[in-house]
Amino acid sequence: MIAKGRFAEKVVVVTGAASGIGLATAVRFAEEGARGVIAVDIDGERLTRVIATTGLANLLHLCVDVAADESPATIVGMANDRFGRLDVLVNNAGIGGSRPIDEVTDEAMDRMLSVNLRSIMRLTRAALPLLPRPGGRIINTGSVFGLSGFPGSAVYGATKAAVMQLTRQMASDYAGQGILVNGVAPGCIDTGMTGRRIREDAWYQKAMIETTPMGRVGRPEEIASVVAFLASDDASFIAGAIIPVDGGWSGN
Ligand code: NAD
Repeated sequence: MIAKGRFAEKVVVVTGAASGIGLATAVRFAEEGARGVIAVDIDGERLTRVIATTGLANLLHLCVDVAADESPATIVGMANDRFGRLDVLVNNAGIGGSRPIDEVTDEAMDRMLSVNLRSIMRLTRAALPLLPRPGGRIINTGSVFGLSGFPGSAVYGATKAAVMQLTRQMASDYAGQGILVNGVAPGCIDTGMTGRRIREDAWYQKAMIETTPMGRVGRPEEIASVVAFLASDDASFIAGAIIPVDGGWSGN
């Protein structure tokens, strides 16, 4: 039984939803009563399994690579075919990678640009005609690595800086039409992307904790709650904001 909540009747797409921040975000919208949440991920096996364990009937899964040419039409088409609407797009799918620029291959560079940046441009473009004006919301996942330097994160950090500037620019294009575009900039969050390194790489763990004034890494749910806020009526006068959710990292 799904409780009626602040997202009742809303249809939400969350990319990168089989794990970490995306999973917590998709579950949050579904638990808060969204009519439908389309959880998108490239890892179909994991996506199907984790969605099944939630027992949430309004949480649907779609296995696609967000960077594939046909994916925007597939994702938006599913929202349109199943619900006839799309209210909130959460562009969250992303890949990490830790190498200084002289060690990055062209292939790895292109893939990171394609998944972390180009796919957001393409999916947003496809979603815009379906988003209500006023009322549509787009929330993009940036990173503190796009705000300041960290060893071995040049390409990743560049994609995240670009995502955050893309967010501000898109906000200025669509705010006047009532579509609000915002973002979050997570600090170090314990997810599939980072969890192993947090536990197994003592240098990384120490660096993450010491750079975070709160002295701990974050939980995916602590990002999901801010994404949900940005999608809610409580954020009705926010456009082009990037909210750091980082235990104080960026305020340092
Ligand atoms: P995660 O690895 O736990 O989850 C990312 C999900 O995205 C995975 O399920 C993965 O399969 C999916 N994905 C990857 N490439 C995809 C593609 N091409 N198409 C569809 N799905 C794809 O990692 P996370 O930490 O939850 O990452 C979510 C977002 O948060 C990413 O954009 C990441 O850059 C960002 N972020 C994470 C942290 C952190 O510390 N974990 C910090 C700042 C920003």
